[in-house]
Amino acid sequence: MARYIGAVCKLCRREGMKLYLKADRCYSEKCSVTRRPKPPGQHGDKRVKLSEYGIRLREKQKVRRIYGILERQYRKYFAMADRSKGRTGENLLGVLERRLDNVVHRMGFGGSRNEARQIVLHKHVLVNGRRVNVPSYQVKVGDIIAIRESARAQKRIETALAASEARPQLSWLEVDKKNFSGTVKGLPVREELNEPAIREQYVVEYYSR
Ligand code: SF4
Repeated sequence: MARYIGAVCKLCRREGMKLYLKADRCYSEKCSVTRRPKPPGQHGDKRVKLSEYGIRLREKQKVRRIYGILERQYRKYFAMADRSKGRTGENLLGVLERRLDNVVHRMGFGGSRNEARQIVLHKHVLVNGRRVNVPSYQVKVGDIIAIRESARAQKRIETALAASEARPQLSWLEVDKKNFSGTVKGLPVREELNEPAIREQYVVEYYSR
């Protein structure tokens, strides 16, 4: 279960936009995209015109980084999306959105996907009453996600819930914050996934070369 453990703000600066990879910091003045809005590294100041390939590569990397997964798993997700009916790009976002760590974050129990991933790995999450500690677990319509009672007093969960009030509510997830639980009401809705902006068609074109 490998994951990227390097500096994450550098990833946002590379993509030229906030990817919201940390919790509170992303919404504060301290955000590196606000303070240093240029690509990282010695040559960050240079203006580089991206090629067609470069544009698609950057989009592919951006989406991968938003959801915090490595290339190998990303390719598997793409293959799954490609095999499914419908638009491959939207299918890909659907698979990524249905990851348990993402859902825990979207419901407000984790300040970022990374934090949510840790909450899942530490066995604080129940799916339909059973402990699930696999961040990549794909939730299904009707699943009930809950935080175990023993973890409900954790400061980070309390902070994340308070911060989530500022984010728009997603129609496919119903959250009962008082009871630290939520229900998956349907499938992810593409129109609700616009922050940060994603151009999934470029990802499809990248892998279809
Ligand atoms: Fe860092 Fe968050 Fe700002 Fe990205 S959005 S640069 S992760 S503080």
